[in-house]
Amino acid sequence: MPEGDNLFRAATALHKALAGARVRDFRSDVPLLRRELDARPLAGKRIEKVEARGKHLLIRFEDGRSLRTHLRMRGAWHLYRSGEAWQRSERQARAAIETDTGFVAVCFNAPVVELTTDFDLRDLERLGPDATTDAFDPSESLRRMRARGELSIGEALLVQRAMAGVGNVIKAEALFLCGQDPFRRVSEVSDEQLARLIAESHRLLVANRESGPRTSRNALTGPRVWVYGRSGKPCLRCGTIIRMRRQGTMGRSTYYCPSCQG
Ligand SMILES: [Zn+2]
Repeated sequence: MPEGDNLFRAATALHKALAGARVRDFRSDVPLLRRELDARPLAGKRIEKVEARGKHLLIRFEDGRSLRTHLRMRGAWHLYRSGEAWQRSERQARAAIETDTGFVAVCFNAPVVELTTDFDLRDLERLGPDATTDAFDPSESLRRMRARGELSIGEALLVQRAMAGVGNVIKAEALFLCGQDPFRRVSEVSDEQLARLIAESHRLLVANRESGPRTSRNALTGPRVWVYGRSGKPCLRCGTIIRMRRQGTMGRSTYYCPSCQG
């Protein structure tokens, strides 16, 4: 697949090679993606289709999950035969999927590489204000979240039609930093509290825009995050044991400190 090919042609070529095959191996250097793959492996799962949606390339798996990549300027998908030498350095590979039919699809240098669900995909069509950009409009996101008063704030932060860009890590960290109980309903928190939560999410997203491991702490040593992935370990602020609970219709994991986030 020549570089510079447009997304649609890339999706068509990948679809021809991958659809119907099963994943033999799925590797990634993206920390969040790697954690998700460790928790729920994709090895053995069938690839249903590859498609371009807007600026996103989606690889859909039989279990309802999709790998979403946004290539921006520097990203590219390459297709190789198993064992064939890659045209770019392995260090630039963000994700590599090997199939049981002898193909390896490699995504190089994409700024967005994440597993998402069908539910999230519908939301891609009408995204809310993009909190990863400097031009982010927090008041519009607040208005859209208010319209979802019945949701818990942990769920509302992930609604991409309200605020685009927040994933599960940023959600958990922003809730911790704002001292908010993830399970409170949007209708139960004040405008001021909601605005602070939105501002904190925006700040973390901007701070983590460059590649590299996500972080919400400025500490030079110790964990990079306050609560995400730390269930069973002591809270870095108060020592209480961090917990994890599944939340919302999608059962997304929510890590929190029961004391700091009362
Ligand atoms: Zn705590």
